[in-house]
Amino acid sequence: MEKIVALCKRRGFIYPGSEIYGGLTGTWDYGPLGAIFKKNLKDLWWKEMVQLRSDVVGVDAAIMMNPMVWEKSGHLKAFTDPLVECKVCHQRFRADKENEIKVHEKTHKEKTEWTTPQKFNLLVKAYLGIIEGQQDEIYLRGEITQGAFVNFENVASSTRVKIPFGIAQIGKAFRNEITPGNFTFRSREFEQMELEFFIKPDEAEGDKWFNYWKNQRMNWYTSLGINRENLRFRKHEEKERAHYAKFAEDIEYNAPFGWSEFEGIHNRGDFDLSAHNLSFIDEEGKKFTPWVIETSGGIDRSLLFFLIDAYTEDGERKVLKLHPKLAPYKVAVFPLLANKEELVSEARKIYESLKQDMMVAWDDRGNIGKRYFAQDEAGTPFCITVDFQTLEDKTVTVRDRDTAKQERVKINELPEYMAKKLS
Ligand code: ATP
Repeated sequence: MEKIVALCKRRGFIYPGSEIYGGLTGTWDYGPLGAIFKKNLKDLWWKEMVQLRSDVVGVDAAIMMNPMVWEKSGHLKAFTDPLVECKVCHQRFRADKENEIKVHEKTHKEKTEWTTPQKFNLLVKAYLGIIEGQQDEIYLRGEITQGAFVNFENVASSTRVKIPFGIAQIGKAFRNEITPGNFTFRSREFEQMELEFFIKPDEAEGDKWFNYWKNQRMNWYTSLGINRENLRFRKHEEKERAHYAKFAEDIEYNAPFGWSEFEGIHNRGDFDLSAHNLSFIDEEGKKFTPWVIETSGGIDRSLLFFLIDAYTEDGERKVLKLHPKLAPYKVAVFPLLANKEELVSEARKIYESLKQDMMVAWDDRGNIGKRYFAQDEAGTPFCITVDFQTLEDKTVTVRDRDTAKQERVKINELPEYMAKKLS
């Protein structure tokens, strides 16, 4: 983990939030590379879950919602974690995270005693309005999910959706986590990518769609390069299920800090639509309350796991073997020497032309070896070098990140070559 955290800072993926003022616990800022990586991840999810489907539409709901939403959804009462305090050092922990408790117990010489667990509500409060003392107390959304439910009837009446159909959304959520930690894994501000898929209310339909979505989601992660051996499904025991869930399974990653959830598949039954008093009228005029199968993933957690899974060391060389679709820069362009005008201008032309279609990095500092080293750490799949031979025969060297092999490619064939390699 330390290596990943250091690489993220060094190369501009992720920095501690508000770092120049000592940071703010549980917040992280994405740097130049991290911001592109995150955008790629979100775009790929959106393409898979909305663009390529004819049974899913997307929404982008407000972060601040009427507090009634949280009362009706049960979050004011039940969106809690069990909090315990170590009687030796007064640090607070989640009683349900046995691993974290064990790790903490090892830090004390004497036997650790704990207070009895208390329910701690995770919703983050905010105050809205312009008159001091008369502001409305609201909550920043603790899950993006409710934005899909409160718009259920709007979506049904403004589009031509038919059951089964889904509402997809990506956005920020906020939780007053008791123990933020493990880098971005548990933050107080984070992003979710979720699908609420509405089906006819029926146990059999529920199982069918639950299994369908669970496999779809697993396949999506492996199609983007996560090693299947580092992934597993884990069923929730009844006592750990969220207040809204009839049935739940997580997709977990074999992280350096243990197997950890980064996406949950839930059968929410009709819990939410009933709570908000919402229903659906089908083409035959029959009114009913659909059930919901939800896929709820974390952008930050999956990004972290894509990074960890892609990280490899080959002697001194550290390589992020990210899937080309996820890699922030698809290609880097170098002039062999920074002080040879013909090389620089030829390289600049290639750089400007490729930039029309993809993110391209430019580097003319130091020697080629150092530039490769930097691009390997950034996960850039290809590096193009313009050298003296280029001036004679209009070819460049293309070097592959994963094999470190180089080949000569004609400049005018580069767009086609890249398109093929990056698909
Ligand atoms: P955990 O118990 O690990 O805190 P959770 O079970 O409360 O997570 P859910 O409510 O199911 O999480 O949220 C769905 C997804 O949102 C999670 O799988 C995760 O990817 C993401 N997520 C939830 N809480 C956080 C957080 N504090 N920081 C980053 N991502 C989060």
